[in-house]
Amino acid sequence: MNDQNLPKTFCPMPGINAGMLTLEDLERITDIVRKYDVPMVKVTGAQRLYFQGLKPERLAELKNELKIPDGLPHTRSRVHYVQSCPGKTWCKFGIRSTDNMSKAIAALELDGPLPYKVKVGISACRMCCCESWMRDIGLIAEKKGWRLSFGGNAAGTPRIGDLVADGLHDDEALVLVKKTLNYYLTTAKYKTRSARFMERVGIDELKKNVLG
Ligand code: SF4
Repeated sequence: MNDQNLPKTFCPMPGINAGMLTLEDLERITDIVRKYDVPMVKVTGAQRLYFQGLKPERLAELKNELKIPDGLPHTRSRVHYVQSCPGKTWCKFGIRSTDNMSKAIAALELDGPLPYKVKVGISACRMCCCESWMRDIGLIAEKKGWRLSFGGNAAGTPRIGDLVADGLHDDEALVLVKKTLNYYLTTAKYKTRSARFMERVGIDELKKNVLG
């Protein structure tokens, strides 16, 4: 079978945090590829890892092993994905570490289901390698702390996120991300992306509800 004839199926590898892969992750991935004869592994633009092109019956077996339910590969009670740059630990330009922040945001417990997908981009300096301004939640590190934006989007009608606050320490940034998402999920209509929500509500109203 050549690539043209492969099924358009895919399955995400759970537990990969912002594209960081340990030796154990790599060994597990290799085991899966061998066991299920996976035609292609793709590192996505969102820094996730997808097994692609499996026949439907093999896909079902793999999903079963990975405990991935049928339907959407994500839950609305958590952010869709967190994308982060290597940060201060691995990049000479990095001002802050991104590893703990990306894990903490991915694990955030919210007050309920989100209206729609929420993508997070974390960049450890103003070069913004993770395009934070174009994500629903954007964090960019500066010397004085994190800069938090909300309502960015890179899709059909692109939008640069609104600046919610800056100069935030790690704990402050995490608290404000949670408050912002909780405000969004209690205020926005179902299936309204943050960009469209912010066009309607405006940054001043958001700030009034999440700051202070
Ligand atoms: S955003 Fe800055 S710190 Fe992060 S990878 Fe890019 S240059 Fe390095």
